[in-house]
Amino acid sequence: MAGEHLRDILFLCALQNAVKHGGVPQAGAVVGMVMSAHPEFRPRAKEIATLAKEAIADVAALSSDNRVAQLQARAPEMYDAIYVKHEHRTVLPDLESAEHGVVMRFAPNPSGPLHIGHARAAVLNDAYVKQYGGRYILRIEDTDPKRVDPKAYEMVKEDIGWLGLGITETVTQSERLPLYYDLCRQLIEKGGAYVCTCDNEHFRELKQAKTACPCRDQPVEKNLNLWEKMLDHTLKEGEVTVRIRTDLNHPDPAMRDFPAFRILDTPPHPKVKAHVYPLMNFSVVADDHLLGVTHVIRGKDHIANTRRQRYIYDHFGWKVPVYRHYGRMGIEGVVLSTSQMRLGINEGKFTGWDDIRLGTLRALARRGISPDAVKNAVLAIGIGDTDISFSWDNLYAENKKIVDPVANRYFFVPDPVTAQIDGAKPHTAHAMLHPGDAARGTRTLAFEGTVLLPGREITPDVTMIRLKDLFNVKITWNGSIPTFSYAGDSLAEARATKAHIIQWLPGQESVHCTILTQEGEMSGACEPRVKEELGKVVQFERVGFVKIDAVDNDGVRAYFTHT
Ligand code: GLU
Repeated sequence: MAGEHLRDILFLCALQNAVKHGGVPQAGAVVGMVMSAHPEFRPRAKEIATLAKEAIADVAALSSDNRVAQLQARAPEMYDAIYVKHEHRTVLPDLESAEHGVVMRFAPNPSGPLHIGHARAAVLNDAYVKQYGGRYILRIEDTDPKRVDPKAYEMVKEDIGWLGLGITETVTQSERLPLYYDLCRQLIEKGGAYVCTCDNEHFRELKQAKTACPCRDQPVEKNLNLWEKMLDHTLKEGEVTVRIRTDLNHPDPAMRDFPAFRILDTPPHPKVKAHVYPLMNFSVVADDHLLGVTHVIRGKDHIANTRRQRYIYDHFGWKVPVYRHYGRMGIEGVVLSTSQMRLGINEGKFTGWDDIRLGTLRALARRGISPDAVKNAVLAIGIGDTDISFSWDNLYAENKKIVDPVANRYFFVPDPVTAQIDGAKPHTAHAMLHPGDAARGTRTLAFEGTVLLPGREITPDVTMIRLKDLFNVKITWNGSIPTFSYAGDSLAEARATKAHIIQWLPGQESVHCTILTQEGEMSGACEPRVKEELGKVVQFERVGFVKIDAVDNDGVRAYFTHT
């Protein structure tokens, strides 16, 4: 547009606005467009206001086909801009030392399926790998057999597939125990770790008093000998711990000579035969180093671990990855604790890991939340270190952007009552499958004398309604008994009398439909064609988006997604 005459600019802005929104634009909107695109005109505001009115009048005089043709001919880029959906990419802050690519990892414990809290780490790390290029490792951290659910290995992979993460390789820590054992031996030889046979309680007291335990200064040979006895199981569970030598004067007692390996006899590990297990801080450092991890994005709850892990890096003389710790995220309204979820499932309180009252990704999927909505919502939260609470509204808004353009529309009538409409001939309603996409066509609803109406909306104060896409109905009340009669086809008349526009179903043809929400069930009827939408999200008009979960001879079961 640069260099064009002000009058032309105003005309084109008015034209674009008219093509985009239909009808004739408001002067304020056109002036606003021009001022923001051309701040140099701001001093001429008064003149522009007058010229804008003229431009709008010129546009108003054109037929709508003519408007499109003129805009395409005179400013094709403005025409395209109406239809090009701008990719709204959330820009994450740069990571230092990432210019030449990154190696990052997502490291869940296989104790259950992934939930919305995991999605944050999973998606943020994924986004950075995509941004800088590199490898994205899925690392299954299963070195605590007490926290392993054998079924979770598969569930975690399914959840990652659903999220569409760009994982380039997968490692499972229980398959790498010999590597950790080897590093432990090296660390003992370097004097960075020792094998402690003190009673745990006694060690704790010494640690609180910043005092070394007798094992701390035993010779390397003795440590190596004890380590062999751990491995050959001469030493038993509870008798021994490998400790990392840190700083006994560290102000935080949790940093002082923290444990790195232990013996566990039970429960048996579902994948390997083992009894010596590394604790998280050791196996995480070993693998971050061995796998070449360059950047770690994880929650603030790991800050103390980052401090502990630095001691291990220093003993080995390894390069420390770049860390970012994001703030805590409170998530209300769903159950997230794996143990509570498991208990509830076992007790029959929840139907399974995808029960919609849970915060698992599979529960979100079940109720029609798309993986891209989860990703966008999580990216919008970002990696800031302020504590926040997760906004379901934002997730729903992201999801709505995705489902609204694709979901077909249908009528659902809650708690239906049958009404006979006197004086109406058979009619056929042609309701659009999608109001923004006429090409998708219509569904037909045949009226043959009776309709199903939402009982709760037919109250004695209602005397006129419009059955959507059909005709108007007059309601006459005899006490609490309504009589329904045909009152013409005119939508204008319905609008003039402010009649409620009501979704309805043909009395002779509907299917039973239950909508399950997090709070409970909503029972009603819907169009038979909804049965063809199994597995998809549709919009029940004036109710909200729902995912069609099951279809059988008894009808349809749907999960409520959001309004
Ligand atoms: N497996 C650890 C966890 O799920 C993650 C370890 C890490 O990110 O360093 O908490």
